[in-house]
Amino acid sequence: MALPRLLRLWARAPGLGRALHRAGSASVAPDFNSFVTRTNTCGELRSAHVGQEVTLYGWIQYQRQGLFLVLRDFQGLTQVIIPQDEAHSHVKQLLSNAPVESVVRVTGIVSPRPPGQENLKMPTGDIEVKAETAEILNSCKKLPFEIKDFIKKSEALRMQYRYLDLRSYQLQYNLRLRSQIVMRMREYLCNLHGFVDVETPTLFKRTPGGAKEFLVPSREAGKFYSLPQSPQQFKQLLMVGGLDRYFQVARCYRDEGSRPDRQPEFTQIDIEMSFVDQAGIQRLIEGLLQYSWPEERGCVTTPFPSMTYEEALAEYGTDKPDTRFGMKIMDISDFLRRLDIQFVQNALSYPRGTVKAICIPQGAEIMEIIRRPDGSLKSLLTKFLGEKQQSELIQALNMQVDDVVLLAAGEHKQVCSALGSLRLESADILEAAGLVLRDPATFHFLWVVDFPLFLPKEENPTELESAHHPFTAPHPSDTNLLYSDPTKVRSQHYDLVLNGSEVGGGSIRIHSAEQQRFVLEKVLKEDSEVLSHLLEALEFGAPPHGGIALGLDRLISLIVDAPSIRDVIAFPKSFRGRDLMGSAPDYVTPEELEPYHIQVSWPLAEKEAKQS
Ligand code: ASP
Repeated sequence: MALPRLLRLWARAPGLGRALHRAGSASVAPDFNSFVTRTNTCGELRSAHVGQEVTLYGWIQYQRQGLFLVLRDFQGLTQVIIPQDEAHSHVKQLLSNAPVESVVRVTGIVSPRPPGQENLKMPTGDIEVKAETAEILNSCKKLPFEIKDFIKKSEALRMQYRYLDLRSYQLQYNLRLRSQIVMRMREYLCNLHGFVDVETPTLFKRTPGGAKEFLVPSREAGKFYSLPQSPQQFKQLLMVGGLDRYFQVARCYRDEGSRPDRQPEFTQIDIEMSFVDQAGIQRLIEGLLQYSWPEERGCVTTPFPSMTYEEALAEYGTDKPDTRFGMKIMDISDFLRRLDIQFVQNALSYPRGTVKAICIPQGAEIMEIIRRPDGSLKSLLTKFLGEKQQSELIQALNMQVDDVVLLAAGEHKQVCSALGSLRLESADILEAAGLVLRDPATFHFLWVVDFPLFLPKEENPTELESAHHPFTAPHPSDTNLLYSDPTKVRSQHYDLVLNGSEVGGGSIRIHSAEQQRFVLEKVLKEDSEVLSHLLEALEFGAPPHGGIALGLDRLISLIVDAPSIRDVIAFPKSFRGRDLMGSAPDYVTPEELEPYHIQVSWPLAEKEAKQS
């Protein structure tokens, strides 16, 4: 019997847990039937089992006319034949009337499917189980939505009933793959390279700079813990403590408000090493990703290419370039300098003034300078360009027929960022029109290096902030500049970019207390007192050290091509940072707040709402 479309994904699951396991690990396949009374999972039975009596447990995925049902568990689907004879009327009654998604136990005999009724697309498609006995372990009430992978549900509803959404093939796949990848990472780090898995506290104190932290009240009046934005200080202190190689699957917290595709709590693969340089950390991460990469996603080629921050900005207009496609930014300042165009001349007269362009292949539907088939240009600019200059421009930009060029004039960084955004937008538009620029099945890793150590603060450009974090060491050849012109210092900070998303970042750290104090107090104007423990530790023989953190949620979402990181987190928060299933955050009573010496000062509207 052909399976209805809704069973498509589950049906093809080649025994989900086992297939992933094979791809992910060199060790023996796991035994899914240990410690329980089932004999097999729902994805396991084959022709070789014919004649055996088996006991399966699972959810009713589908039931038809009291004749058969499809039983599902994490590993796949098995067709169960409902007996029609008098002697089994009780079993028939039970299985025909159980609502879908009820959880049942079925014991029966594995039989070959009648000739012609095999389902080649289903791993268990050669057999069916003739039910002898059955038990409804828990009946399912009417579902808020059907558990069909192809039915689009609103994300809010999916999150409210997350435990039901977790039954879908896609989420099972994502979470199981995530688990396998993490296991491989542990193997690589601990077993092959001697890293130590250390848990660090999640109740700590404020760290200066960087993201906003969540506060946790304490029973000491006016004193609060902070949930760390990362284990940064602890991992450095572990190096001072001689641990030498640390790693942790670390939960991190950032109170960044509503940001698309960010979570207030997220997971990092956090790493720190002593006596290492930038190249050492890069080789470690390349090896780690190569070792843990799922077989079904191809292989990872190393070493990853590398680009400086300045190159990334100049060519792609961003510090996380998507290098899967071209359309790089080109500087045409010199070409246009010769022309008498007022806005161009204006832009070029400023410090770092520039005119740059991107050429969008086949972008004629989008706009501005278009190369016509007769070789001329359609553009507002053409009135300033003679024929010779037009063809020079065509050559300089390597324009083909129907290509479109977008220009921007102004300050270097602003121009690059604007064109960088337009480049990505244009790629979206072209892809919406059917061109494939970014194949989701290809993975382009890239190191971005030589960041500036400090950047002007967005809200007040006369003040500086760390481009990475205040513990990052200056580039060895720029150390002297730290004391004379900190804005010119490059850092030993490196980011790992995958397909245009930042999936990791780290640095070689400052290990001299004197230099760390100078950066905090003199450059960043921070109160170094909050970090006195770290500064003191650096004075007690701290080894040179460095590290990195990989954003696990983002990495896995790219590997499985999920639209959001929420699709690879079992219980994610909503866009506004809420848990829609359990309704967190929630109110607490004034009595519960009392030990913390806290009172809520209600905004008027909420006070009235609460009183009414
Ligand atoms: N703690 C840093 C971060 O969370 C990573 C690092 O520097 O190792 O971005």
